[in-house]
Amino acid sequence: MTTQFLIAFLILYFWHIMGVTIGYHRLLSHRSFRCAKFVEYFWVLGGYLAFEGSPVWWVSVHRAHHRYTDKPQDPHSPRFGWQKALYGWLSQSAYPDHITPASQCRDLVKDPIYKFLEQDGNWRRAHILTMSTGLLFRLVLLLFCGWHIALASFLAGILVQQIPLLLNVVCHIPRLGYKNYQTAEDSVNVWWVALLSAGEGWHNNHHAHPGSARSGLRPFELDLSWMMIRLMKCCGLVGWLREESLKQNPIYEAKI
Ligand SMILES: [Zn+2]
Ligand SMILES: [Zn+2]
Repeated sequence: MTTQFLIAFLILYFWHIMGVTIGYHRLLSHRSFRCAKFVEYFWVLGGYLAFEGSPVWWVSVHRAHHRYTDKPQDPHSPRFGWQKALYGWLSQSAYPDHITPASQCRDLVKDPIYKFLEQDGNWRRAHILTMSTGLLFRLVLLLFCGWHIALASFLAGILVQQIPLLLNVVCHIPRLGYKNYQTAEDSVNVWWVALLSAGEGWHNNHHAHPGSARSGLRPFELDLSWMMIRLMKCCGLVGWLREESLKQNPIYEAKI
């Protein structure tokens, strides 16, 4: 029973975390690769069931984070208080004036599923829908697969939900990591966040090249999400992708 629980937990953890990294982040937010709609929905569902919230909301906030990184309009910069950056910003009930999904998320609001999950921009209603769907999914697992699978799924989902929130803070505190690129904001690479988040902790690399499907660039910068994207490309599930490497960047060449 314990082995079954652990195997289920690991499989579901990787589906959920890659749902966030591959689905919500590298695909929906940055369009760093192209794939069929069923592949997109597979990963986005993994993120949604990890209580990540409406994809339109997530992407709108994330694009604003890139546009205003570590400036007052950044939704979750730790420069203005780590508590607000960690959970505080979630207590808002609507978009601030400088974030408008209709203009900044035009590519997503047309999708009927994402439109429904967005609940007309009402954050509270969209979050309640996310929580209810997540709990209903575990109830179905409980009825059809048993308590150990349902518990493994619930724990994996709750744990994965914390990872991007943690990353928003830790990977923007310079003393906690290192930079490959002298970017104008505070982003840093943090190895243990990269391990927990299947590659997203190489956050300074990501801010330097937000459109790249690959975030781990140096040989030791393990990027499991990139490996999965490469695997999907080999299987014909990904048609086109954008890949950055350190050698292509003159700033890094000058630094080493
Ligand atoms: Zn960032
Ligand atoms: Zn990003």
